[in-house]
Amino acid sequence: MSDQAFVTLATNDSYARGAMVLGKSLRNHNTSKKLVALIGPQMSEPCKAVLKRIYDEVREVDVLDSGDTAHLAMMKRPDLGVTFTKLHCWTLTHYSKCVFMDADTLVLSNIDELFNREELSAAPDPRLARLLQLRFDGGDQGVLNSFFNDWSTADISKHLPFIYNLSSIAIYTYLPAFKQYGGNAKVVHFLGKTKPWSYTYNTTSRRVTGSDAATHPTFLLDWWSLYSRTVVPMLQ
Ligand code: UDP
Ligand code: MN
Repeated sequence: MSDQAFVTLATNDSYARGAMVLGKSLRNHNTSKKLVALIGPQMSEPCKAVLKRIYDEVREVDVLDSGDTAHLAMMKRPDLGVTFTKLHCWTLTHYSKCVFMDADTLVLSNIDELFNREELSAAPDPRLARLLQLRFDGGDQGVLNSFFNDWSTADISKHLPFIYNLSSIAIYTYLPAFKQYGGNAKVVHFLGKTKPWSYTYNTTSRRVTGSDAATHPTFLLDWWSLYSRTVVPMLQ
């Protein structure tokens, strides 16, 4: 019961690749916490096997779906219905505290200090679209907001500084702000429809190519170099 854990979720093999990189990045920065991956039933055996080598616990969970496709379609992200599955985090009662990380995040330094925060601390979503839909957007944010309905107005200490949730794309949209604060970034979040694993990486030229790869080059390259160096060998 005394253990604390970083928890992530991967319902399929694509998000599993994100979870592998996230796990590696947490280990590389010497986390003293347990690592837990919640996985969906359709994940392939090879991916499960790699996750088991990186994570302390890999637990299969039922995929919860909000069923609220109308709202999600409006946000052009029908895939986000399954993010409800992250609510399984609250069933991990054998840990005294959990910190949930999206599988599309990359840790740049030790963030164990997050465990000093109270439930439910979260980083505000920087996207305007999600902010407008904040309360009932059909995704898990809506549910979390209803449960912890004072979150947006409560204790500011529960709002994590944005260095814990730096959007890889916003960095380039807000370049001046990034130049001032970006060096302190602790977690990069590849939020949005195109994930790091959707791009192509050339191991020889060490370049990432794909639709809008140029809009967030640095962190995308960090993700891919960690993936090709430490995850690919485990998948072979
Ligand atoms: N997720 C998943 N399978 C999916 C979609 C989402 O496992 O098909 C999990 C994964 O941990 C992901 C999180 O739910 O990081 C939130 O979704 P996503 O990161 O795609 O949303 P965004 O950050 O772009 O809003
Ligand atoms: Mn995400």
